[in-house]
Amino acid sequence: MDVKVICDICGRNIAYRSCRLCGKRVCRDDYNSDMDMCKSCAAGRSAHRNRER
Ligand SMILES: [Zn+2]
Ligand SMILES: [Zn+2]
Repeated sequence: MDVKVICDICGRNIAYRSCRLCGKRVCRDDYNSDMDMCKSCAAGRSAHRNRER
């Protein structure tokens, strides 16, 4: 079997991980490995954190 999962964010690259928060399959470009979550969750998180602090 040769199943290629396409990134749920950009829809172009091959996904290599799934986000532990939203469960989206994301490619390397769209994954924030520092925060261990996808770009969109990371963006939401940092925006939220800025507001809280
Ligand atoms: Zn992508
Ligand atoms: Zn996510």
